[in-house]
Amino acid sequence: MIHKIESSKAGSAKTFATTCTHCGNNGTFQNLPVQDIFEPKYQLWYGSRKCPNPKCNGHIFFIADAGGNLLKTYPSLKINFNSERIPDRIKNTFDEALICHGNNCFISSAIMIRKTLEEICLDKESDGKNLFKRIENLKSKIILPEELINGMQELRLLGNDAAHIEADTFEKIGKDELEISIEFTKEILKAVYQYESLLEKLRSLKKEI
Ligand SMILES: [Zn+2]
Repeated sequence: MIHKIESSKAGSAKTFATTCTHCGNNGTFQNLPVQDIFEPKYQLWYGSRKCPNPKCNGHIFFIADAGGNLLKTYPSLKINFNSERIPDRIKNTFDEALICHGNNCFISSAIMIRKTLEEICLDKESDGKNLFKRIENLKSKIILPEELINGMQELRLLGNDAAHIEADTFEKIGKDELEISIEFTKEILKAVYQYESLLEKLRSLKKEI
């Protein structure tokens, strides 16, 4: 979408609270020593703000309507996930899926989620003739609730029993299904890379008692 500035006047949009795209905390974003721009024809505000979290101080650009309601921020809001102990290659692929989702590029996000799942199976040497079977085989390597594995059959982006996922399968993935896929992938990442470290932390605490 192109934002056209056909005329403009300087001013100050209302203050707003939002989730910081950098640190993930909520807060009322602070004004900076620059004025905002108001575009009268399209009734939109453009400007910069700073995250109120002193450990973050992250900068965002925003677009708001005439009433000061926030319409968009750059960088876009991204679903949070704990990347502790996740190999860089997998972390970066999943992060790209979340960036695509935050920018409403749902097909690209679905493709990157599928790639994340493929990379997890590759990393854990989980074999099978298709992605669904490879994730099924992950059960022998990780602790994962049975319901979650069963629920995978519902996810179109896994291709179910098809050996190859067709390009148009991704076109059929809606926002809701994509968001379930993201949650599902987060659970798999947790089970594969983080449950063990949680158990280690618990055991080290027991030793101290
Ligand atoms: Zn922040």
